[in-house]
Amino acid sequence: MNDTSNFAIRLADTVAILERIANEFAPAVFASSLAAEDMVLTDLILRNKLDIKIFSLETGRLHKETLAMLERIQETYGVEIQLFKPKIAAVEDYVRQHGVNAFYDSVEMRKECCRIRKVEPLNRALSGNKAWITGQRRAQSATRAELAVQEDDVAHAMQKFNPLTDWSEEDVWHYIRSNNVPYNALHDKAYPSIGCEPCTRAIQPGEDVRAGRWWWENPESKECGLHVVDGKLVRIKSI
Ligand code: SF4
Repeated sequence: MNDTSNFAIRLADTVAILERIANEFAPAVFASSLAAEDMVLTDLILRNKLDIKIFSLETGRLHKETLAMLERIQETYGVEIQLFKPKIAAVEDYVRQHGVNAFYDSVEMRKECCRIRKVEPLNRALSGNKAWITGQRRAQSATRAELAVQEDDVAHAMQKFNPLTDWSEEDVWHYIRSNNVPYNALHDKAYPSIGCEPCTRAIQPGEDVRAGRWWWENPESKECGLHVVDGKLVRIKSI
């Protein structure tokens, strides 16, 4: 059952999971994309003063509205989000060899761009931690239907937590509106899911919430590699 009447239970469960991560899996980090789900988790972590560091991947191709969220978080919570950026030499090599927008040419070129701009910086950000947290939800896409709250992330040799696994989109927005949480202005322009600017577009009414991400690809290939190992989704072991 996933109606809003059980929202208070889901919220309490989420806070309990975050507290458990902070207490039992320190040092732990939260990878924030600065989108709606991640603003819920940012608010819960900072409101409850949990010992969980928050970082974001600054790919160099983000929308100005997404970058503006960094300032809004600073103004609202007095906290600076740590940024991890791609290696300049790797970006320059890719652009020189393939072109600045080669990710449109093939899935392989797209994954290579994501590897350079997201996966490698993510690996650096996770290094030295026992657990990481994402704002992923099961209902977001076909690729996330089997998402578990806690997963054994063998690739990074750490635990991965998805505390919003059971949340619906209505839950996310109910929390944001009820608690006056700042959110990315693109969400009001038909962007339910937000990635890099050239790889994200607004969706039409009735479309899947992730239909605007890498819209030129098949739904099955639509992950950035942050949750993929050797070309396969990392759903190694649910705990
Ligand atoms: S989402 Fe697009 S621009 Fe961003 S890293 Fe992936 S391919 Fe590159």
